[in-house]
Amino acid sequence: MKTGIHPQHKVATVSCSCGNSFVTGSVKEDIKVEFCSECHPFYTGKQKFAQADGRVDRFNKKYGLKEDIQE
Ligand SMILES: [Zn+2]
Repeated sequence: MKTGIHPQHKVATVSCSCGNSFVTGSVKEDIKVEFCSECHPFYTGKQKFAQADGRVDRFNKKYGLKEDIQE
């Protein structure tokens, strides 16, 4: 690698809005995120954000869909 053209790779502390924090490698030292692998619905399998928002419910009511859609 050439010297002087690459950003310095540091150890970064990532803090999430759920309170979880972990260490990763980055050119930044501190990273703040809203979702991490501990709290994102994709990883937890929960849909708490969508439910809290109520958008899915409203969409289902608007288009007359039943709440438990068969897959
Ligand atoms: Zn999180």
